[in-house]
Formats: sequence, C-alpha cells, structure tokens
Amino acid sequence: MKTEEKRPSEDGTNLKNKYTTFRPYSMSRLLEYERCPQRFAFKYLQHLPEIQDNAGFQGQVIHEAIAKALKGEMWEDTLAELEFDDILDAKIKVLTALRYSKNLGNIVGIETKFAILDDGAITDFGDPDGFLRGIIDLLVESNDDLMIWDWKTGHSKPTKFQVFLYAWAVQKALKRPVSKVGYILLSSNDILEFDVSSEELEITERKLNKLVRTLEEDREFAARPGAHCSYCSYVSMCPLASLIESKDIPTVRNEREAVEVAKCIKVFEEKLKHYERALQGYVEGVETGKVKIDDNLWYGIKYSEVSKLNKNVDLNAMYRTLWEHSEDPTQIFKVENKVLQEKFPESFSVSKRKNFGFFTEGGDKND
Ligand code: SF4
Repeated sequence: MKTEEKRPSEDGTNLKNKYTTFRPYSMSRLLEYERCPQRFAFKYLQHLPEIQDNAGFQGQVIHEAIAKALKGEMWEDTLAELEFDDILDAKIKVLTALRYSKNLGNIVGIETKFAILDDGAITDFGDPDGFLRGIIDLLVESNDDLMIWDWKTGHSKPTKFQVFLYAWAVQKALKRPVSKVGYILLSSNDILEFDVSSEELEITERKLNKLVRTLEEDREFAARPGAHCSYCSYVSMCPLASLIESKDIPTVRNEREAVEVAKCIKVFEEKLKHYERALQGYVEGVETGKVKIDDNLWYGIKYSEVSKLNKNVDLNAMYRTLWEHSEDPTQIFKVENKVLQEKFPESFSVSKRKNFGFFTEGGDKND
C-alpha cells in the first residue's frame, strides 16, 4: 500500500492552523505519529528528508510492476530498475501477487486513490480540505460486497489497522459493505485475511479519532524509542540518540571499526561538498539569493565585511606614529589589525565577502 504525502503549510504562529494542516491524514502519517511523535515532527513539521533504504525502493518498484501486470501492461522492464541480485526475487513476488490477486474475485480497482471529507463524502485525492486519503492496492468485488487487499513486500507483520481503516473509509464513502480485508504477503507467499464486522469498524473509527485528536493537540512530539529506531533516518538528531542502538550510530571498539568510521567520514565529506555545491549553485541563480527551509530557517548568500591593508601603505610609518603617541610603547608590539584600522582608517579598504550558510532572522540577505 502506498500513500502519498503532502507537505503541510505552516505559519509558525497559529498553532491550531499549523497542526490541522496535517490533513488530509494518511495511513503512513498516522502510523508514523503512533510509532514515534518525534520522528513524525522531524518529517512533517521540520520537513527533513528521509533516506529511503533499499527495501523501501524495492517495495515501490514491485508495487508498480504488480499494478502494471494486473492492468495487462508490460511490467518486466520495471524490475530492471532494481539491483541485479534483487530482480529474480522481485519477479517471484510479482508473480505471487498476480496468482493470489486474480483468484480473489472480480477486480474493480488497482492502486485506487481515494479521499474523504470529515462527513465521509468523497473528494479529490489532492483536496487540501480532505480528512483522510490513501491508495488501495486491490479492490475486489464479490456479489454485492467489496474486499480490500494490500500487497506487502517486507517481512514485518502488518497491522490490521491499515486495512480496517480503508474498509471504514470505503464503506462510509461508497455506502457499500466491505466484507473482507487482508494482506497478500509476498515474502512468505501467504495470505492474511480478516472478516469485517461492524464492531471492528467502530473500534477503527474510535482509534482513528483518538489518534487524530492526540496529534492535533500535541505540542511536545516526544521521542518514543523502539525497534523502529533501527531504521529511523533522524536517529543522530534524536534527543534520545545516546540511548538508542542503531545501525546509523556507529560504535568504535577497536582499530578496525575506527578505520571503518574514518572511511565513512571521508565519504560523507565528499558527499557534503557535492550537496553544498549544488545548493550554492541554486541560490546563486535565484534573484533572492536564498531559499526558505521552514518558518525560521533559510539557506543562502550572506555577505561579511573584510578589511584589507591598502597596497603601498607604509606599515613602519604607522607603527612609528603609534610609538610616538603611545603612553606605553611596548604595547604596540601587540597591536592587532583591528586597532590599526581604527587609528588609520584611510590605510584600509573594506570589501564584501560572499558566504553561504543557514540563517534565521527573517532570512534577509545582508547586501
Ligand atoms: S531514533 Fe527512535 S525515538 Fe528517536 S526520533 Fe527516531 S524513531 Fe523516534
């Protein structure tokens, strides 16, 4: 199941507005918040990018290939985007998904995007006033009932909440009963299915409302460590980083590990240079010379003043003058450029130096 995200707009002052702009909610947004509010804040309040791991990329490509295959389109080339060693395994997963999906009933939707308003009415997927939205991998019809299925490429056990939430939304929007929901587990070649009862839909609605209410009222976004920290992109920025074991926080216990960490630093440094060059090239090309990161943070060009001694200035003559007028001539050996500049401003010229960096204060360029 893939869900599309939309960056909330923020004004930084009106908290109510700020937090209600998490709408439309999506499964990934809600689950992210439930797992760890701090990570949610890094991602959706600070808009920090996440590093997609190989498993995430594979899942995305496999979903795309399954959807194409079910629509009768060419799909094998899609898998060529994967690393060579992963392609055969991915192909088996696509074929498994096809085999199960085609036997579930009459397919009426493949990767169906939906969005609903607070009252359950259907709205555009891109509607910023939408309450909840998502993408249903497979919508199947059997007699008058609908069934909702989700392809899972990973090994972790999926939560029932996701498919029940979609069942709740579809039933509310289409006023048609959803009788069954489930997962097609492509890693274990298995199916996980659940009958949908009105009682479970009520539990789903209550759980959804509670999550939304807690999220909209949250002002702390506290870190909630757990197994999910091992794949958190923000672990090194986490306030609890020192307590968390993660593959992204290295430990150095011997010389071999020290060498490994040193090599990583070298690679990151090179990467950082490329990132900086790209960003600097961009801000140099835009009229404002800066780019807004969030309410308080900008990246761009800043100018600082640099003073230089003019050519042909007689430094000795300057020191002689200082010597003659000084109460303690021994002190003139300690005179700094700054003092010389104050005493002999005509001997210096001031120019502006261009710097790049992050800055606050309304993001104005000092030019
Ligand atoms: S490292 Fe763990 S506790 Fe910290 S933000 Fe990431 S998921 Fe949350």
